[in-house]
Amino acid sequence: MVKSGTMSTIELRRQNRNHVFRSLIDAEEPLTKQDLAAELFMSLPTLSQNLKELDAMGLIDASCTTDSTGGRKPRLISVVPDARFAIGIELSSGSIRMVALDLKCNQLAFRQFSRPFENTEHSAKELAARLEQFLDDSNLSRERLLGVGITVPGIVNADQTVIEYAPTARIGKMSPIWVNRYIPYPTFLDNDATCGGFAEWWNHAEMENLAYLSLSRGIGGAILVNGSAYDGDHHRSAEFGHMCIHPGGRVCNCGKRGCLEAYCSATRLSDDLHITLEEFFAGLSAGNPAYQNTWETYLDDLALAVSNIHTMLDCNVIIGGAFPQYLAAYQGALEERLSCLNPFTDDGNYVHFCRYHDRSICVGAALRYIAEFIVKV
Ligand SMILES: [Zn+2]
Repeated sequence: MVKSGTMSTIELRRQNRNHVFRSLIDAEEPLTKQDLAAELFMSLPTLSQNLKELDAMGLIDASCTTDSTGGRKPRLISVVPDARFAIGIELSSGSIRMVALDLKCNQLAFRQFSRPFENTEHSAKELAARLEQFLDDSNLSRERLLGVGITVPGIVNADQTVIEYAPTARIGKMSPIWVNRYIPYPTFLDNDATCGGFAEWWNHAEMENLAYLSLSRGIGGAILVNGSAYDGDHHRSAEFGHMCIHPGGRVCNCGKRGCLEAYCSATRLSDDLHITLEEFFAGLSAGNPAYQNTWETYLDDLALAVSNIHTMLDCNVIIGGAFPQYLAAYQGALEERLSCLNPFTDDGNYVHFCRYHDRSICVGAALRYIAEFIVKV
């Protein structure tokens, strides 16, 4: 009984400290003790004790003062953003991307390699070497590194020992995982779209639930319910790319016909036309009639998929992937189609475009470590 009582007291103190830390993380400007005490309804002595503990952990800075005139200047308290950081690595069929994020989600460094993801021992050693180089070049202290989140364009089993399926990366069923074997830091492996979805959920405080649809060379997705990914019974939920939108239609990477991925992957607007995405959207805004026809059909297919997702899940749908920065200009055209398809209202304004543009997946992978740290302080 004594022991459990002691634990409760310790946990209560930690929760108080955590409230103080999270207020400082969320604050856009440094705060005075009085600001914080008022915001948290906390007495000044209790607040001072919590600040002392956070200071001892190296997580806050109280060395600055306000510019107030006369008397003793109040100290300003802020989080030390780079007291910890995390790395996110996005492995895709076209490239490898690495990002470093600090505790306030600021990007400390970013690098992209034109190297397709291969799940081999050689590639795993190469990836570990690239990571070390990235840390050195960016002057990031390994002692402050929380962990390395790695995403793959496929389905990873629950205990992260097997990539079950990754058709766009040409990885068949049940491939043992190599990618993180030579990385000497905490790592986790997850589906790319799940991490992209988490990044969007973290940054949309107003959304309890959301569906994330990632349009790249492959198409994936995630369903976030109160911040947790809905995985399904076999970790295969939200594989929106393989939702059939045209029965008997084009052949998909998965071998079936008519999947969304066969109609709305980024390759439809680039490789299939022997151009880049940048060239497609430049030609589209310049009025190229062939591109306009392709685009109208593309938007019809995309709207059908987004509407189906919304009909099933009844939540906001956020589109991410390789080109949301271009898609955003066509939000009106997409919403118009959605409003016609919606059986319940004539509103299509539940569709949004991701805030991190084409970096949401690697940002989300890093953010998982940051979020875990912030919650546990
Ligand atoms: Zn498919």
